[in-house]
Amino acid sequence: MEFRDLKTQYKKLKEEVDASIIKVMEQAKYISGPEVKELETALAEYVGTKHCITCANGTDAMELILRAWGIGEKDAVFVPSFTFMSTAEVVATVGAQPIFVDIDPDTFNMDPQHLEHMIIQTKQDSKYNIRAIIPVDLFGLPADYDQIGPIARKYSLKILEDGAQGFGGAIRGKRACSFGDAATTSFFPAKPLGCYGDGGAMFTDDDELAALLRSLSVHGKGAEKYDNIRIGRNSRLDTIQAAVLKIKLKAFLEYELEAVNKLADEYNKRLYGIVKTPKIPEGYYSSWAQYTILLKNEEQRYDLRTKLNGQGIPVMIYYQKPLHLQTAFAYCGVKVGTLPVSEEVSRCVLSLPIHPYMSKEEVFQIFNIIKGCSIKNLV
Ligand SMILES: *Cc1c(COP(=O)(O)O)cnc(C)c1O
Repeated sequence: MEFRDLKTQYKKLKEEVDASIIKVMEQAKYISGPEVKELETALAEYVGTKHCITCANGTDAMELILRAWGIGEKDAVFVPSFTFMSTAEVVATVGAQPIFVDIDPDTFNMDPQHLEHMIIQTKQDSKYNIRAIIPVDLFGLPADYDQIGPIARKYSLKILEDGAQGFGGAIRGKRACSFGDAATTSFFPAKPLGCYGDGGAMFTDDDELAALLRSLSVHGKGAEKYDNIRIGRNSRLDTIQAAVLKIKLKAFLEYELEAVNKLADEYNKRLYGIVKTPKIPEGYYSSWAQYTILLKNEEQRYDLRTKLNGQGIPVMIYYQKPLHLQTAFAYCGVKVGTLPVSEEVSRCVLSLPIHPYMSKEEVFQIFNIIKGCSIKNLV
């Protein structure tokens, strides 16, 4: 069994993907070819934002937006601690201070109450200017924008939606990557919509920001390519990757997104009452970047993981260590015990295989192993 079966996906799409790549090679417009623009238009239309600007990866996407907003030294940005490294890394890269926020144990997403608590505390500290919040759509589920939005407005903070795992999700029909003042996604191969290498995109309705992002991602260009009006960088999506994504986006929208949702329903139905299954709030829709269950303690997780691995079932732990406890962020001085939910969840989460080419029978097989395992009191 595969944790995320990219080989089967390629086999299924091979003819179209191959033709699409070959076309790029024949046209020889390897950088900023017509496929890039075409993809940006399709992505913006799907997400429902005015602009989509593709770039080299999801990390660059976030960093470029923070730079465009002029966030840097003496500024504070609020990030969840239970996420991938990039979310806080980009804050540090632009010279600002990441302020770690705890999560909701049911959704694994940023806890709005704790967010407001940290905002008030940071304001009182007055060491930093508070500037932005980066909510993460973890495991495919949009963050709680219903509550985070009003908090951001109350304290005049920008929202940067980290939709690296969230592409395809929605809240009452409004699509992920349209919730913040700006949003980003990643096309890393294992993400809900992945390419065959690195890739990323930025989304916004703000014309001025969009123009600035286009400039920053191409060496600070002005009206013309060799007119450089600011310090930027080189962060573009390759034409070949855009050509791959064009085909993959079609498959994603035609059946992949629905397929993973069906599998998640099957998991939920089977595992209900056996282990703690992920909670999707009313009106929310997940793109199931991961299907993550919560065990009672680390020993239980170890036992279950060993059992599953022993039967050839690949499982992963996202994430072993919350960011505030990572060595790289030791300088932030956040002590063990400060963000109890993130710390506890890191010890107890286990992500099970999920991908559009998985069968219901495979879910059933995993369910049988979990059900049959002698671990007591899983829920
Ligand atoms: C993958 C990921 C990123 C970064 O994306 P890259 O394209 O790998 O740079 C950022 N945030 C989250 C939550 C991610 O999962």
